[in-house]
Amino acid sequence: MNFALGPGNVEDLPPALDATTRQPPQTDSVAETESVFRERDDGLKTNLLGLNRKAMEDYFRSIGDKPFRAAQLLQWIHQRGIDDFAAMTNLGKPLRAYLAEHCEIRPPEIVQSQLAADGVRKWVLQVDANNRIETVFIPEEGRGTLCVSSQVGCALGCPFCSTAQQGFNRNLSVAEIIGQLWVAQRELGAERRITNVVLMGMGEPLLNFDNVIAATELMMDDFSYCLSKRRVTLSTSGVVPALDRLAQVSDVSLAVSLHAPDDTLRDELVPINRKYPIKELLAACKRYIGKDARRKVTIEYVLLEGINDSPAHARALAKLLANVPSKVNLIPFNPFPNSRYRCSSLETIARFSEIVQLAGIITTTRKTRGVDIDAACGQLVGRVSDKSKRHFRLQATA
Ligand code: SF4
Repeated sequence: MNFALGPGNVEDLPPALDATTRQPPQTDSVAETESVFRERDDGLKTNLLGLNRKAMEDYFRSIGDKPFRAAQLLQWIHQRGIDDFAAMTNLGKPLRAYLAEHCEIRPPEIVQSQLAADGVRKWVLQVDANNRIETVFIPEEGRGTLCVSSQVGCALGCPFCSTAQQGFNRNLSVAEIIGQLWVAQRELGAERRITNVVLMGMGEPLLNFDNVIAATELMMDDFSYCLSKRRVTLSTSGVVPALDRLAQVSDVSLAVSLHAPDDTLRDELVPINRKYPIKELLAACKRYIGKDARRKVTIEYVLLEGINDSPAHARALAKLLANVPSKVNLIPFNPFPNSRYRCSSLETIARFSEIVQLAGIITTTRKTRGVDIDAACGQLVGRVSDKSKRHFRLQATA
């Protein structure tokens, strides 16, 4: 497969540059000419799809080859969508044969592909025998956003979210996270590029910290998807220690699922608030944004009829955010089976938006997309072999 993320096709592209020297790599390394690569003894194939630059360099060192191979492999896999080592023509034949024997490029398997009337696409992906996740592509004028899942289910139990009703099974691996991007870009083809990624699908990304970070590094790597930090957004319900840890290692864009302007209501709607209340969460947001004064955190606020959508709630929200560099994204609630909530009326949403905007906060209302294929925000379910018994479970982080 070749999804030609960059300009032109493989033939048009120059050889990959060495990440350190920025020079084209030599293909006649000692290891290649002598056909001697260090054997690994675990008998398992290494899924190269899940290796970021550093891990890929370490891998090539571990088999006695040069770390510059990492940049070449990343380009073949992520920019050109190639999953056949034999097609990687700027690698010597002995190395290609070695990789074919010891490695694989294995994305999640598509078990269902749906196209909504408004062009939204949803893929159901099998990640193991018992579990499926969902990934959604939202096309817009001049951009294409992929909503990516980070866990199989979610343990955090927000009552307005259909993912929560599935319970929780496990974290996704790096290959399963970046594999959603790989699969989606392959399915979309060269004409429709993924320009933005939002980690807003199934799961709480900060509770799968290391794998999410490695996957976002691949999203932003010059030799992979080459997305800027403004185009990769991590959405969290507010795992404060992990948010501080994130600030140490990443500068992706940040979105926070707030959904309530006070702790009493948020304790109910976003139960992790009982552990990390609003004051602590917003302080952590400011610390994160503090790295760059031009940045704002996106505050997500789902509007639930009669629950959090009154003018008083809007005024409280505006007051709460007065000193937080932020913009507000209002999300009309998308119903799912057995949900106890209803969506606020258009008038209520407009009034809420106006109040927050009048306080000087940039406020947008998210368009509901893909609702006819259950691909709208908060509707992703997949199939989860639930280990949590739906009990509220917080995983230790940081
Ligand atoms: S809204 Fe997010 S954090 Fe809350 S249950 Fe759903 S996926 Fe988990």
